[in-house]
Parts: sequence; structure tokens; C-alpha cells
Amino acid sequence: MIDLHNDALLVLPKNKLLPYLRKAKNMGVSEIWLSVWTTELKNPLTIIAKKKAILDEIANDPRYPLCRLHIEDAWFLTPENIDKLIALNPHSVGLTWNQNNKLAGGAHDNGKITPWGYQVIRRLETANIQIDTAHLNRRSFWQFTRVTTRSLVCTHTALASVHRHPRNLSNRQIRAIIKSNGLIGLALVPKFLTKNTISCDIHDLFKHISYFNYHFSNAKLYWGTDFYGTEQLPKNINQYADLNNLLNLRVIGKSVLRKPIFAYQLGKPTAPRRLLITAGMHAREWIGSLALQKWIQNRPRIPNDLCITAVICSNPDGVNLATGNLKTLSKKRQKFLIRTNHGSRDFNLWKANIRGVDLNVNFDAGWGQGRSNLTIMAPANYIGPEPHSEPENRTLLHLIHQFHPTVSIAIHTKGNLIYYSRLADKLQAEHLARLTNFQAELSTGSYGGLTDYLAMRCNIPAFTIELGDDNLPHPIGQEHLPDIMPSLNIILDYFLTGE
Ligand SMILES: [Zn+2]
Repeated sequence: MIDLHNDALLVLPKNKLLPYLRKAKNMGVSEIWLSVWTTELKNPLTIIAKKKAILDEIANDPRYPLCRLHIEDAWFLTPENIDKLIALNPHSVGLTWNQNNKLAGGAHDNGKITPWGYQVIRRLETANIQIDTAHLNRRSFWQFTRVTTRSLVCTHTALASVHRHPRNLSNRQIRAIIKSNGLIGLALVPKFLTKNTISCDIHDLFKHISYFNYHFSNAKLYWGTDFYGTEQLPKNINQYADLNNLLNLRVIGKSVLRKPIFAYQLGKPTAPRRLLITAGMHAREWIGSLALQKWIQNRPRIPNDLCITAVICSNPDGVNLATGNLKTLSKKRQKFLIRTNHGSRDFNLWKANIRGVDLNVNFDAGWGQGRSNLTIMAPANYIGPEPHSEPENRTLLHLIHQFHPTVSIAIHTKGNLIYYSRLADKLQAEHLARLTNFQAELSTGSYGGLTDYLAMRCNIPAFTIELGDDNLPHPIGQEHLPDIMPSLNIILDYFLTGE
């Protein structure tokens, strides 16, 4: 993980900064750009020199990430002192903060680059110092692009197409940065991410990340966390460990109610082994989604020959319903659902999607031949009007035909079982069963499931894992996550090492 903007260097005293940086390294951070924000400093150069000395001390120490010195706001520069700054050899410099200064126009202001600003750009770039465009307004940004000789960098920002904010980048700016081989850091600043800053959480981050990964799929997004610089952070995001793999998230399709269906992609899609993991297909089995999310946040080491696509929740509308959010739906939808649920407002045990189709009998693999199949809408087991009638399943199909998995795991609950659909997969299923103390079973009498489809139509080893002891009642609550994680870890780690 690379963080292009962190204010710990200015905020923390040395005896707190060093343990903080070592911890960051342990949480997977390989490089941090540490900022000295000068706007409110009386003697910036003195402070910068002091901070630089701390970074020099740890420069070659492998316990630390690569720490780069960044200067935020160059208001204090004059023809007399600019050489002093250059001698301190910062990695990068932002010309302004939010307001105009003697050099250029800040994001919350309407100024432009001044003749002195142009001189500073030339002097710094000649000295191999990177200019950061993060706090420039649009006008200064475009002026800058016409004179710079280097790649463009915007260390901490977000996407104006997702949320309009003067600090956010337009798509045109993003394209210019990408074209220059530059860097963009996504900031954890609620004001940049959403209108509703109070409720800002991981989903607001997902909107920016998935928009970027969808529209600029050839480019890479980085973090520019602004840890220690922003007063507020998105809910439950407090440290680097909370960010693991989040940038690898993309939207692969939409549900009936147009909710995004997300997938993580870990590793290179050209890898010879490609593992598809899915969870949350049956609404009441949402604990599987939490378990998969947790496994991913624990930062599994993905070997070079493996790529993983993990679909965290294949049935977001159903999970929303089963977790007690009936009231968020339209009156008409509520009426239909209550009727389908045999008059009950309790959707705890609901398995289907929001149209009453059981997604795991809707695939084109012996469709409609299952023992418990139903042909009317129901909380479970309705096969749908035709195979792949549901957008959630078409999303998975599209993914399968793009990703070409070589093996698949579908996470369900419960019973401590491993189901397989082809005799060819018996040995592997039995091996997994021995590792986990699960039972391996050939699934007979069930058809139209994702595992059936992958085994029968795509001819790859595919397994349905039923996590959780059979004594646990549905739905298995969050408090049982520690009980089901060990088996999931064993199974997924087995596929990491490649048999
Ligand atoms: Zn299930």
C-alpha cells in the first residue's frame, strides 16, 4: 500500500511518530509521503529542516516504509531562501494551500500562477523536486500542465464526478494525470467524498473507488489518506489495516433494485490459476459475506500464479431485506414481499432476491429439475420464469465469461459440509473435508445452482461450502463469526498455496 499524503510528521512528536511508522509498515504500507503543512507556521524552513533530520535517521531502516518528505504550501519561498529549501531536498512541494498565495491559485480561490510561481516551478523541477497539484484550483492546474516537464501528481483528492467539491478532480484532469503517467491519491476526507459527511462510511469510499476503476480501468488509484490532517474520517476507518485491498474493489453489475454488486480482484487476471469466491447469494446467509470480507481484510498473500475474484455479496437486495430493512422499500414492493412471505413481516429467514427468485436455482444447469424447486415466487426455492432471469445471476455470468475461473468456492451456511457436483471433484472435496472436519457430499437432487453451473457448464472444479455447525439456527448471527472463520481460512488458504 502506498499513501501519498499523511500529516503525522508535523503532528506527532518523534517518540510517537517512529512507532506509528513502524506499525504502518507492519500493516502493509510500503511508502508514505509525509507532509509538513506550512500555512500556519512562522518559520517553515526551520521546522522542515528538523523534520527532514528525523526522516534521514530512518531512511535506510527496513523496519520503516519508504518515507518521503512533502511540503504543503510554498507561500514562504522568496528568491533569497529558495536554495535553502532545495538543499533540504524534499520529495515534493505543493505550491498553495486552499487560498491564493504569491505563487498560484488555491482550490477555494480564483487566482492563477504568478510570474514568481512559474519561476518556483522551474527551479524545483530542475532540482528534481515533484510539484503536487492537490490544492491548486482548476485554472492553476491547467496552467501548470502546460509548463511542467514531469508526470502530474495529485496527492490527496477525490472524484468530482461522484461528489462535486473544489478539491476534487474532474474526469478531464484525471485523464491528463493518467496520460502523464502520474499519481492520484484518494483522500479519506468526508467533505470530499459525500454530501452527508456525518454518515460518511466505507460505502462512500466504494463509490469513488468503483467509479475510478470502471472509468479509468487502465490506471491505478492510490491512497492519499490525510491521516492526522483531516478532523473527521469515514466511520470505522481509523488506520491502514482498515484499507487493505479496498482499492481493488470494482462494481461488476447491479441488483434488481440497482444496488451495486462488488467484487475484489486480487492478483493479475492473466495468472494461470483463477479462483472465484462468492458469498451472500442466499439472503439469510449474510454472515458468509462478513466472513469473506474479513478474510480479504486480513491481507492474504496472493502468489504470482493466482488471481482471485471475490464477490462479497451476490444478493444485496435480499440481504438488505433479511437484515430488517423492509421499510426502506416502496409501499408496493413491501406489499408484494409480505404476500410472498405468507403474510409475515419477519424476513429473517428469507433466501431469495427481491423478486422472490432463489438465485441459487436460477442458473442454466439442470434448471427446474431440483427436488425442492418451486414455480411460484417464494422466500426460497423459486426457480424464476427462465434460467438467468435475474440481474444478479446475469452479473455473475458476465463475470465468469470475463474472468474464466479455473476453480470456484461458493460460501453458504450451514452444516459444515462441502458439496461438489462432479465425481471428478470428489478427491479434492474429501481432502478439504479432512482439513476442516467437514463432510464432503456429492450434491444430488439439487440443480440450477452456481456450483452446478460452473461444474456442469464450465467444467471446472466447483465447491459449495456450508459454514457453521448445524446446531446454529438461521440466520447465523455476527457473534458467530469467530466460530466460522477458522474453517473458511483453512479452505481459502488451501487454494492460495495451490494444492
Ligand atoms: Zn445457501
